[in-house]
Amino acid sequence: MNNENKTIHEFDFSLICEYFLNAERQGPGSPEVTLKALSFIDNLTDRSLIADMGCGTGGQTMVLAQHAPGRITGLDLFPGFIDQFNCNAMKLNLQDRVRGIIGSMDDLPFQKEELDLIWSEGAIYNIGFERGINLWHVYLKTGGYLVVSESSWFTDERPEEINDFWMGIYPEMDTIPNKVAQIQKAGYIPVACFILPENCWTEHFYEPLVAVQEKFLEKYKGNKTAEEYIAWERYEAELYYKYKEFYGYVFYIAKKIAQ
Ligand code: SAH
Repeated sequence: MNNENKTIHEFDFSLICEYFLNAERQGPGSPEVTLKALSFIDNLTDRSLIADMGCGTGGQTMVLAQHAPGRITGLDLFPGFIDQFNCNAMKLNLQDRVRGIIGSMDDLPFQKEELDLIWSEGAIYNIGFERGINLWHVYLKTGGYLVVSESSWFTDERPEEINDFWMGIYPEMDTIPNKVAQIQKAGYIPVACFILPENCWTEHFYEPLVAVQEKFLEKYKGNKTAEEYIAWERYEAELYYKYKEFYGYVFYIAKKIAQ
């Protein structure tokens, strides 16, 4: 790829995309927690329609497809992820039930009250949690489920370093009871929530990224943007190990109620 003629912004985008394309997954999670969250869902049949918002390359989508009936549409903004997603579906012979499309989570191609289940792991923050759960409500059937994982604070107070880091990136980061209250206010019954275990960050996310980072730095040797990006990613991981008792990812499972 020739990055010489691109603006920094465009380069950042394709750079981040390339970096994560080589990763096992694009956010913290694991097949085990995807299945744990799925265990709360009791409304699915072969005719069900499921959407996976911000699906990335589809790590969790393929797990879902292998354990739940129905058709799944994965939606992501980055075409490179969707290409990889559709390749992965093909490799697992799931292409008849699983399809990846390019699109934005805040401009959905679905019909009102069409979906039985909306799934989204580590992605809703891109459009904001509260905005997202309110926007998506209309696309769910009454009795349909929403399952999202979202970075959340475990305590009301925390050290300044970690507070400033996350609030600087994502000011909507909040405590679990506050997120649950937002879910209820948006017209859902909060069915369950649980904290993702540490291995979702370590074994399934940060650890596989170490090798990706090394290869990436090798390829972009001397490139300031790439070096700064990796330094930033490494800092984020360091902070996790230092402050993991104060925050983490939480799965929220909710059911749309009749209005
Ligand atoms: N669910 C995947 C990916 C999480 S990373 C996993 O858990 O591994 C967040 C994803 O959201 C990325 O794939 C990114 O491309 C996508 N994304 C960011 N903004 C988006 C938007 N507005 N609409 C759709 N996808 C978006």
